[in-house]
Amino acid sequence: MNFHDSEKIMGILKREGYLPTDEPKKADLIIFNTCSIRKKPEEKLFSSLGRLKSLKRQKPSLKIAVCGCIAQQKGEELFKRAPHIDYIFGPQNIGKLSSILSLERGVFIRENPEIQYEELPADRVDGIRASVTVMYGCNNFCSYCVVPYTRGREVSRPLDRIISEISELVDQGYKEIQLLGQNVNSYRDGELDFSDLLRKINNIQGIERIRFITSHPRDLTEKLIKTMAELEKVCEHIHLPIQSGSDRILSLMNRGYSYEEYKGKVELLRTLIPDIAITTDIIAGFPSETEEDHYCTIRALEEMQYDGIFAFKYSPRPGTKAAEMPEQIPEEIKSRRLSEILKLQDAITLRKNAGLIGTIQEVLIEGRAETGHSTGRTRTNKIVLFNKDIPPGSIVKARIIQARIHSLLAEPL
Ligand code: SAH
Ligand code: SF4
Repeated sequence: MNFHDSEKIMGILKREGYLPTDEPKKADLIIFNTCSIRKKPEEKLFSSLGRLKSLKRQKPSLKIAVCGCIAQQKGEELFKRAPHIDYIFGPQNIGKLSSILSLERGVFIRENPEIQYEELPADRVDGIRASVTVMYGCNNFCSYCVVPYTRGREVSRPLDRIISEISELVDQGYKEIQLLGQNVNSYRDGELDFSDLLRKINNIQGIERIRFITSHPRDLTEKLIKTMAELEKVCEHIHLPIQSGSDRILSLMNRGYSYEEYKGKVELLRTLIPDIAITTDIIAGFPSETEEDHYCTIRALEEMQYDGIFAFKYSPRPGTKAAEMPEQIPEEIKSRRLSEILKLQDAITLRKNAGLIGTIQEVLIEGRAETGHSTGRTRTNKIVLFNKDIPPGSIVKARIIQARIHSLLAEPL
């Protein structure tokens, strides 16, 4: 989502006449688009800002901006830590960037209704797959998560705007559309829901593949699963974050489902879409997590047999409920639990990938790896490498000949 926000920022700057540069010394404007989902990116931001101090001294006309979720959360406070910043603006103010840059300096982390919000075309980095926002914000307030505070309340984008953006992307030659939202399953435009949106996109001529992130397990309905199964362009992959396998922890997290309910949805997915790949997110060491709770997560990984996971140590975020909970887990326990989770999943991922050796997969070629190999993805979102050079954008049938944890090696038929 942040990556796509950066593409939107680039789209606005391009229209304003800016050109990109890789050299900070040449820049008239430097923008840091930040993430605050965990603590680490915050530390990175301050060290990057520190490096720019002398540059700003040498070239006072250089403008420095910090946007994204850290900007939204810290606001004015950032000026105190780094007085050489010129602009601070939150994710909800990206559409106002042109007006912001016309001012001398300032903080823009509220609604600022006096400034006109514009929806501008994003300047996308990739030429094959395009991200398209379907909704902003989140209303879920999972107890560990900063997103509802930094990205605000959930708002669905009008369906006709989404369709017209996608139609333009198809004209530009994009083959794959990735729909973005914190909880796409709760998308609504009047009577129409996410299944209806998928159906309309599926009818657009020229699109080859449709993906979406992220699905909240609580809001994944039978209607949506049936729609996914029915629509030929919707890929056989779902990212369905479980977070924990323990009902006690899931309840403290305010996730709104039990492990059994989650499991039921996975069973339905696998029944109606037999080859579906399922990936997930896990948090290790949520406050008060016992060895028994951790073991529930380990058992869930064994039962679910995910195709891949993103796992993180719990990171207390200021202002969230979980950060105030007693019984925060010591760092070394979190680390140990995380490495147990990752070790188990590596073995599962490798075994699942090895099971694909000899199968024929449809691969959309996306580009070339540093090694010179052509790369692409299966419909199930697995990365595939080839020994041959194949033009990006083409769709090939390929036989899988070798499996690794993060990629498959294949030969085109
Ligand atoms: N809206 C998506 C998730 C967005 S955040 C959803 O509900 O699935 C992406 C992932 O970051 C989350 O799924 C969670 O696993 C992780 N995450 C969020 N807050 C975190 C925190 N405070 N500490 C560690 N991981 C966190
Ligand atoms: Fe955060 Fe939960 Fe919203 Fe996802 S659904 S963004 S984890 S509050």
